[in-house]
Amino acid sequence: MTAQQNTTAPKRGELTAAEREMLQVIAAGDSAEATHLLGRADVRVNCLDENGMTPLMHAACKGQVEMCRLLLQHGADVNCNQHEYGYTALMFAGLSGNAEITGMMLDAGAETDQVNSVGRTAAQMAAFVGQHDCVTMINNFFSRERLEYYTRPQGLEQEPKLPPKLAAPLHKIIMTTNLNPVKMVMLVKESPLLADAGALEKCYRVMDLLCEQCVRQQDMNEVLAMKMHYISCVLQKCLAFLRQRDNKLDALLKSLLKGRDGDGFPQYQEKFIRDCIRKFPYCEATLLQQLVHSIAPVEIGDDPTAFSVLTQALTGQMVLMDSEFCATCGERGAERRCSDCRMVVYCGQACQRLHWFTHKKVCKALRLRGSQTDSPRLRELPDDHGTTLNFDPLHDKSSVTEDTSVTDESVVTEEEAACSLKNLHLGPPEVIDAPPSTCEDDDDPPITCPAFPADFHF
Ligand SMILES: [Zn+2]
Ligand SMILES: [Zn+2]
Repeated sequence: MTAQQNTTAPKRGELTAAEREMLQVIAAGDSAEATHLLGRADVRVNCLDENGMTPLMHAACKGQVEMCRLLLQHGADVNCNQHEYGYTALMFAGLSGNAEITGMMLDAGAETDQVNSVGRTAAQMAAFVGQHDCVTMINNFFSRERLEYYTRPQGLEQEPKLPPKLAAPLHKIIMTTNLNPVKMVMLVKESPLLADAGALEKCYRVMDLLCEQCVRQQDMNEVLAMKMHYISCVLQKCLAFLRQRDNKLDALLKSLLKGRDGDGFPQYQEKFIRDCIRKFPYCEATLLQQLVHSIAPVEIGDDPTAFSVLTQALTGQMVLMDSEFCATCGERGAERRCSDCRMVVYCGQACQRLHWFTHKKVCKALRLRGSQTDSPRLRELPDDHGTTLNFDPLHDKSSVTEDTSVTDESVVTEEEAACSLKNLHLGPPEVIDAPPSTCEDDDDPPITCPAFPADFHF
């Protein structure tokens, strides 16, 4: 019962004794015993239990990282869908909430758009049970091979659209789950290959092609299309600054960070993101309509910001205005606090230095306000366990200082507040290029505190 069994397609519930033992070993997480069993002729790596679950599905479901790795090394089929309700190993990975296993499945070629018997994808299943890290990972996965297609000349091309050396840095930007434009510009800036006008031009054109491809493919992927478009916009903005400015990308970073008078809200950044969304070339896309519907009625400076709406739409993650996110680059897990106001956090000194030219204007006010109430700036959006975009825009203005100095173009008129594509255009895009004030930028920011526990007080 050995050789023949290894070549026939496994049937549900037809397990050998050794295969039943294998499933128990997987549940127990015993890698050594599993390795031994997988070497036996009467153990098939893609055998199916009564419910149509493979050993890989069992391991993913139980969150057994090493076991998943072992099974994949032994040829486990990541896209097997013999499960009675159409669940895949990726769905079990997402449900388990283990991001490492989810990433492993994706790297092994798991299809992200397979649906189960009730029409749900793995990302939707993970979102349903609140496993947002897995949702983010699935929604942002884009295989390197898909990008590398453009590094080979196609048809009559003499040269490929993307020089092969640009594939790695561009793929890094595509895979980032932090859509903060500051972070993206930083990624461009730190790559000597990318921070070049010729390279940026090629990259943004490839991003535009990928966007079109995501829209035109049979199962249109609006989320990925929007992300590709957004990245293209950021790259184009970098290109414009590289061509026009002497101080190059630093000027763009400052424009994006510059807070308006009064409350320090980075209005150029908000307008830039709104403008990117507005320029999405496929007007009929449902996602675009949803984004516009969520953003257009919101006054600049109110919640939700365009950044949080876009992030939720593209990654499934809620952006909480809490102390976890770097005030400069939006990176999660920031733990260094401004020692003056103790109201903003950064991932490190570099981010704080970059922010100081504008933060110093509100730092004192934040400190005074912080001593009056608990933490007025640290408001949270309501917890949401789905990927839906239909959360209510918050109109709570209690924590935002009335801004008396905004210019006309940054105020949403009543007419503009109506939800329509046209009305997402809030002022001329050129305003983003406005040079940040360069005066009084040279003094040092207060040192940031090291990573004290959250409840630490001086
Ligand atoms: Zn940062
Ligand atoms: Zn401060």
